[in-house]
Amino acid sequence: MKLYCLSSGPLKVNTYFLVNELTKTAIVIDSAENYKLIKNTEKNYGFTIKYVLLTHAHFDHAGNVKKLQDDGVEIYVSKLDAPKLLNDLNLSLDFGRKFDYCVADYEFSDNEELVLEDIKIKVIYTPGHTDGSVTFLVEDMLFTGDTLFLESVGRTDFPTGNKEQLIESVKGLFALDGDYKVYPGHQEFTTLSHERKYNAFVDYD
Ligand SMILES: [Zn+2]
Repeated sequence: MKLYCLSSGPLKVNTYFLVNELTKTAIVIDSAENYKLIKNTEKNYGFTIKYVLLTHAHFDHAGNVKKLQDDGVEIYVSKLDAPKLLNDLNLSLDFGRKFDYCVADYEFSDNEELVLEDIKIKVIYTPGHTDGSVTFLVEDMLFTGDTLFLESVGRTDFPTGNKEQLIESVKGLFALDGDYKVYPGHQEFTTLSHERKYNAFVDYD
């Protein structure tokens, strides 16, 4: 499996591509807002996107899911965030953005293990930024969406956000055995060992 990352837009949203090099197929984690950039990446690297998995349903992570679905891509999101693809809790209205509503193809639950394109993905519910936010665990990598950032954590002042819940979610990640690379929904990458030590928002010993 090969990992590619695209960082796009003023919010520097990270779109990740997990690519099965044998089948030349890809799973996208968070589709951001730039459809052309995603389609160009697909074309330039010569793979076919089969799935989009969302860490949560905010517009800046779930942009274009309807368009991609129309292209034949299956959209996966947590049970609790799925309704946000069909209402204004995706925050598109608040930020004055266009958002095409989308009925997800699949709604996953906590601790579910997905195997897509021979890639194993474990779903860990990490509520707090939204009530249905998740982290995806793939090999030695965590895709944390807007739950955990480099020396920071996600906002909890949006609808369905909850600060105590978010801190508990991050502590749950910190309690995982060993170290993981952390690929957040915005900005730079980090590692779990770095965050256990330097993240000032979460007490951990
Ligand atoms: Zn968000």
